[in-house]
Amino acid sequence: MRSAIVLGAGMIGVSTALHLQKRGWQVVVVDRRGPGEETSHGNAGIIQCEAVQPYAMPRDLVSLTRIAIGLANDVRYRLAALPEQAGPLLRYWWNSEPHRHERISMAYATLAAQSVIEHSGLIDQSGSDNLIQRDGYLHVFRDQATFDEAIAKAGHVGAVWNVPYRLLDGPALRALEPSVGERIIGAIHWTAPWSVRDPGRLVKNYAELFVRNGGTIETGEAASLRQTAQGWSVAVNGGTVEAPVAVVALGPWSPSFLRPYGYRFPMVMKRGYHRHFAGGAPLTRALLDAGCGYVVAPMARGLRITTGADLADFSMSTKETQLKRSERYAREFIDLGTSVDPEPWFGTRPFMASMLPVIGEAPRHRGLWLHFGHGHQGFTMGAASGRLIAEMMTGETPYIDPAPFMPRAA
Ligand SMILES: Cc1cc2nc3c(=O)[nH]c(=O)nc-3n(C[C@H](O)[C@H](O)[C@H](O)COP(=O)(O)OP(=O)(O)OC[C@H]3O[C@@H](n4cnc5c(N)ncnc54)[C@H](O)[C@@H]3O)c2cc1C
Repeated sequence: MRSAIVLGAGMIGVSTALHLQKRGWQVVVVDRRGPGEETSHGNAGIIQCEAVQPYAMPRDLVSLTRIAIGLANDVRYRLAALPEQAGPLLRYWWNSEPHRHERISMAYATLAAQSVIEHSGLIDQSGSDNLIQRDGYLHVFRDQATFDEAIAKAGHVGAVWNVPYRLLDGPALRALEPSVGERIIGAIHWTAPWSVRDPGRLVKNYAELFVRNGGTIETGEAASLRQTAQGWSVAVNGGTVEAPVAVVALGPWSPSFLRPYGYRFPMVMKRGYHRHFAGGAPLTRALLDAGCGYVVAPMARGLRITTGADLADFSMSTKETQLKRSERYAREFIDLGTSVDPEPWFGTRPFMASMLPVIGEAPRHRGLWLHFGHGHQGFTMGAASGRLIAEMMTGETPYIDPAPFMPRAA
């Protein structure tokens, strides 16, 4: 029986483990925390099969100036983080040129398109149906000009990638979501995505399915990984685990983990925050207020506001500016109630400067597989991406072309 160590028990690591297990592998997942307790816990919970294009960096002068002077709420930056982030940001800017972005989207879309299908099987097997809502989410607008611009983009996405959506004017939107006030003039209803009311719980359910089927989850520090004559070994509580292959699925911690191995993977560290609110008006589906840079989503704990990107490194302190602004913007059209979290949560979207996740064997280390960098849509793509890497590791014909995702370290 073939065996593997998977480092990281977020959505990406657990999905990898499940797909390998399905192919008869004996897998040990190693994490310093429990499954789904980091980035895969705190996100907006949307399985975004409509997200066929990765999030491009704005290139126009007005947007860049708004970011530079701190007016934008979707992106903020820390001066102290810029020296480390300058290289990845420059590459990100380069790749965001419209023609390159369109080419990158062709690869990105192959994973997004399969996301709901792959999650669907795991949701059934893990008994997670109670967490799932299957009625899309709403991209809402405050003025007609921005709405018209987004309608044109939706038309392009719909035509090229066959993504379904419908347009709602104010009354149609309020018929669907009566709590949304007049400040919102209309919405694009992306009808195919699913939403998860407790994203961390879904990962835990997947992890429990993996254990029920004979898999093992151990507590351990990834930095203890060593190359041996037979493959790889890692220290875990109460011993050592060995296997011929290891998979690095450490989300935003992957590039720093790989530095001692001589690899530099340019990642833009897009920190995001969340806070829950309860006792206000109900919402049945998530709303993306992109113009103001946040999402408000109904969750088990209440309405969860998640913010855009704060370009900060791990050691930097919490900055509540975006969360407070987002709360103020949301209160302009919905009664949020009161905050139920004493402190905000934050986590980092592992966003590659190439805008594509890294999926494949490390160029200079046999048996070391890399699986990280899913950026804004790792919760969405985990199950589909887990299938892809498992097929590559097993030597099956991959269900999509893996070439665009192959590791290319600097
Ligand atoms: C605010 C916000 C909103 C988002 N909304 C969405 C959304 O709606 N839909 C969507 O698809 N995506 C969304 N995302 C992105 C998504 O959450 C991430 O892409 C995804 O969770 C990444 O999963 P992962 O498994 O790679 O990383 P993680 O979930 O962070 O897992 C990495 C694991 O590695 C472990 N680890 C790290 N270092 C070590 C070490 N040294 N030793 C042992 N273990 C270690 C960690 O404990 C962790 O469990 C959002 C992200 C944010 C921040």
